[in-house]
Amino acid sequence: MNLILLGAPGAGKGTQAEVISEALNIPQISTGNILREAVKNGTEYGLKAKEAMDSGALVSDEIVIGILKDRIACDDCKDGFILDGFPRTVPQAEALDAMGVTIDKVVEIFVPDETIKQRVSGRRVCGGCGATYHVEFKPSKVEGKCDKCGADTIIRKDDQPETVLERLDVYHKQTAPLKEYYSKQGKLETVIGQDEVAETSKLTLKAVGA
Ligand code: ADP
Ligand code: ZN
Repeated sequence: MNLILLGAPGAGKGTQAEVISEALNIPQISTGNILREAVKNGTEYGLKAKEAMDSGALVSDEIVIGILKDRIACDDCKDGFILDGFPRTVPQAEALDAMGVTIDKVVEIFVPDETIKQRVSGRRVCGGCGATYHVEFKPSKVEGKCDKCGADTIIRKDDQPETVLERLDVYHKQTAPLKEYYSKQGKLETVIGQDEVAETSKLTLKAVGA
């Protein structure tokens, strides 16, 4: 099963992608995590991506489409995958179609902008493995340390308040049109993000039939 998770920054799509990934035993492919890793390693495309990411803008379609293509060609994707953060523009969705990738379902995690602005301030990410946490809604067992690898958890540069506003704007302008793109194909399912992560997870799993 090939799935896409859509949602504004901070809506919790990464967390839900993880839940589906475990339930269906298919890999979660987060372009945000792949890009952050590239930035950390100082690769050529990492250097190009950094400026856009730090300002809340999108990385060029050319770069992310290339990354995605390489990733889904990996062996672990042969029985399906869940895309978290891709596509984010209509040209990216068209590129998936052009690659001959069949998407079974697109799950939108819907959270109002006001709630997002409140939530993002509590978000933390592991500097080692990229796992995500939230001080209130999804705390790590030991404060400031990752449950999975023990590295320090940090606040992402693009989670600063002004950058979040920019990212929300980018979402509404460039990514939200994908809802129409996929609802026309009869593939869009909308899940209303709940205050409790576990409640949202129940709805998400139901939406994908897991
Ligand atoms: P969030 O989960 O908060 O939406 P991500 O971790 O998915 O954030 O992405 C972080 C940043 O990485 C984005 O703001 C953007 O700059 C870049 N990025 C990730 N995926 C894509 C994509 N498909 N197209 C363009 N830029 C992307
Ligand atoms: Zn970690």
